[in-house]
Amino acid sequence: SAEEALLTLRKKLSPRGDIVSDAGRARTIELFGAPLSPREVATRILSEIKEQGRAALLKYARLLDKPDLQDGDLRVPQAEIEAAHAAVDRQFLSTIRRIRENVSEFQSRILHEDVRLVRQDGLARVELTQRYLPLKRVGICVPGGAAAYPSTILMTAIPAQAAGVQELAVVTPPTKFGAYNTHVLATCAELGITEVYRVGGAQAVAALAYGVEGIPRVDKIVGPGNMFVALAKQLVFGDVDIDSIAGPSEVVVIADDSATASFVASDLLSQAEHSPGSSILITWHRPLIEEVQAEIHRQLADLPRSELASSSLRDYGAIVLVDSLETACRLTDELAPEHLHLSTKSPDQLLERIQNAGAIFCGHYTPVALGDYFAGPSHVLPTGGTARFANGLCSNDFLKRSSVIRFNRDALDDAAQDVRTIATVEGLTAHSQSVDIRLKDE
Ligand code: NAD
Repeated sequence: SAEEALLTLRKKLSPRGDIVSDAGRARTIELFGAPLSPREVATRILSEIKEQGRAALLKYARLLDKPDLQDGDLRVPQAEIEAAHAAVDRQFLSTIRRIRENVSEFQSRILHEDVRLVRQDGLARVELTQRYLPLKRVGICVPGGAAAYPSTILMTAIPAQAAGVQELAVVTPPTKFGAYNTHVLATCAELGITEVYRVGGAQAVAALAYGVEGIPRVDKIVGPGNMFVALAKQLVFGDVDIDSIAGPSEVVVIADDSATASFVASDLLSQAEHSPGSSILITWHRPLIEEVQAEIHRQLADLPRSELASSSLRDYGAIVLVDSLETACRLTDELAPEHLHLSTKSPDQLLERIQNAGAIFCGHYTPVALGDYFAGPSHVLPTGGTARFANGLCSNDFLKRSSVIRFNRDALDDAAQDVRTIATVEGLTAHSQSVDIRLKDE
């Protein structure tokens, strides 16, 4: 039944939280001299850096990433950022520029604008405004442990810039995939980002949240990372804003008889290769199942990350045969996936039945990779079923709002009795008085 399938599929959605391998546990003991949980590790790093500042930041950067990192190496020199820009090939730069245009256009178009409401009743005038202003300073975590991610910079920094954020600080580990990566630095240069720090993990989050000598604290931290980054972001939330706690990537593909098996297989594999990544196919067209399975085997053979992808598929993959389009939509809505691909002849028919999904890709020629890299909406999306209540990152997440309230004397007079009534019920006499005192010489 659909309900049974739902329970199984929920388990298939990639795991969240403190999952530690034996090797991970052994490394923690080696590093910290005790079998700490990842949460305890993150807590320890955060509190030491909060109290001891830059020296503790450097200590953890050396312990976890680069033993010979010098204090002077923490910030990437401007000359190095510019040299990376000069060194990358022109094709990469023109790609970055095209993506920048796409993302910038979309993120600017969706920006909230101030809203002003005027109530004029005779001489009484009330003006109510919702005013939006950008955050002043934002920190961006760019992973650098296992792969380089220039797309992370594009999909976080461009929305922030569209909102008008003036100061962006990028943190990325001192590794060949992070702060020593030419593509990562060239992308920063192309976006005009000049503050790049060679620090990753929980220690980078601590520096951004609390500030240390030479790195002022930020107002919001965005961007993905491994478990230590995610836990640290969770722990500093409140001292600073964060975007979300992103878990591993996931896709639900809904396909009908118009779908091409090789396309569907490639959509499932492109999530699985994140490893772990969840890939779920839901269809009511039985023959598609065997065709997709055969295609997966065929395509896997040619993928450089085939072992990672196939173990992801084994642990977090599923193919579900349902009785109808309606059941497919109901199941998907309950799963609330990060990515949803509608691989059907009439995607609009499904769109109107689905409320919960981070990003929805419509039709046979819109693979998820377009959203990951190129289209315009950010690829930072809610995972693990949180699309029920959470949203993908966008330019509006870099705005804060204030309400601006303005009454003239006649408007205050009109409102006075209602304010007095509530103030009396709540026993807050000074509230009443603040109105009366202004009207008493009437
Ligand atoms: P990372 O930069 O997030 O983490 C590396 C850092 O973790 C290191 O610098 C180190 O300081 C710290 N660390 C490593 N082992 C540690 C230990 N035992 N104790 C304490 N700290 C430790 O890079 P990563 O490892 O490559 O992980 C990146 C993650 O982000 C991946 O899971 C990837 O799939 C995900 N990601 C998601 C998106 C997205 O948009 N959702 C984009 C890119 C990457």
